[in-house]
Amino acid sequence: MDVYIAIIMFMFGIIFGSFFNVVGRRMPQGESFSTSRSYCSSCSQTLNGWDMIPVLSYLTLRGRCRYCKAKFSFLYPLTELLTGLLFVSSFLVYGWSYELIGALILVSLGMIILVSDLVYMIIPDHLLLFYLPLVILFRTVYPLEPWYSSIIGALTAFLLIFIIIFITQGGMGSGDMKLFGLLGFLLGWQQVLLVFFLSILIGAVISILLLSLRIIDRKTPVPFGPYIIIAALISYFAGSDIMGWYVLLVW
Ligand SMILES: [Zn+2]
Repeated sequence: MDVYIAIIMFMFGIIFGSFFNVVGRRMPQGESFSTSRSYCSSCSQTLNGWDMIPVLSYLTLRGRCRYCKAKFSFLYPLTELLTGLLFVSSFLVYGWSYELIGALILVSLGMIILVSDLVYMIIPDHLLLFYLPLVILFRTVYPLEPWYSSIIGALTAFLLIFIIIFITQGGMGSGDMKLFGLLGFLLGWQQVLLVFFLSILIGAVISILLLSLRIIDRKTPVPFGPYIIIAALISYFAGSDIMGWYVLLVW
């Protein structure tokens, strides 16, 4: 039975993933993502249903526009697949518990930020403002233990990034600061500190990798949002395990 639910969650995930692609690309440009049809950004041709099947269209068209043969970003199928896998993981980890809602909130926010930060280096204020009441409502109905961990988490994260921005003068942006504040409220102060350390660690490892493979050079600006999202997802799905190991190591 659970296998069927996992498959259904995966299908939902890749469909939602293709929606997150659209939101992440249109929101920073102030375009509507609910009314106008999808179109090729290269030749402006409106895409039909066959061009927009998640993952499959990308594979059958070999990542190119049917009309002008312009290359589509690999980010499209990547986001769709990733969302599918994360929807399944959410279900496998949390089952039919209320934290499943929290997981889906985090996955959807994360995938939209992944797209908009990689494409435009922006975490849209509109997006964070949309998620703020959702996260507050969720943590009001299903509070952390103790409940004030959310408030301490939001304040700690916000201040921490504020100081980092002040010291490094541009290592992170105000979008990262607001995102961290939101994550602090959702995850609580201990987990959001874990997100902070993990995101810096992941950022360092990936940057060194990209530099040594000469995909980027020292002057290439790299968005920090995706590292925060990877770290937040790891913390949400495995944070208590990680902190358990840490306590074991320290003791
Ligand atoms: Zn085209």
